[in-house]
Amino acid sequence: MNPGKIKNRSQLMRFLVQEHHARQLHYDLRLEMAGVLKSWALPKGPSLNPADKRLAVMVDDHPLEYFGFEGIIPAGQYGAGAVVVWDQGEYGLLEGNDPLEALEGGKMIIELHGKILKGGFSLVRMKGRGENNWLLIKKKDVYSRTGWTISRALTKEKEAILQERVPPCKAD
Ligand code: MN
Repeated sequence: MNPGKIKNRSQLMRFLVQEHHARQLHYDLRLEMAGVLKSWALPKGPSLNPADKRLAVMVDDHPLEYFGFEGIIPAGQYGAGAVVVWDQGEYGLLEGNDPLEALEGGKMIIELHGKILKGGFSLVRMKGRGENNWLLIKKKDVYSRTGWTISRALTKEKEAILQERVPPCKAD
């Protein structure tokens, strides 16, 4: 893990991106803060290309117990379909000290220390398009990649061992 530009490493918290094969395939970004997982659904997933502005629709908070959840949500349940971890690691703020305050201000400048997602990102609430629409954009740094495309985490091998599992919450 690269310490990057974050000054206070004691303020690192966990982040998670799940690949969710619901009716529409999407990716769920979750940032741990204030005892919950703040959550966004990304129709196209994150990108390491700074030219990509990825829509991130804020959804309900999820409990910390949902961190790392993988399984097949049974048919008939909310979010039915396979959920696998696409990436996880730690994140910290590159601007400000309080993640909740940054969130409420509609602008989080963060550094991700994942296996796939690394370096700076901005997560910014869109103006005049409804409270819940945000954009996730990679900052230009040593980890940014032009021409980057997302790779699926749910391989045939993975699908074969994935078990049906009821999530501990409504699985947005
Ligand atoms: Mn989802």
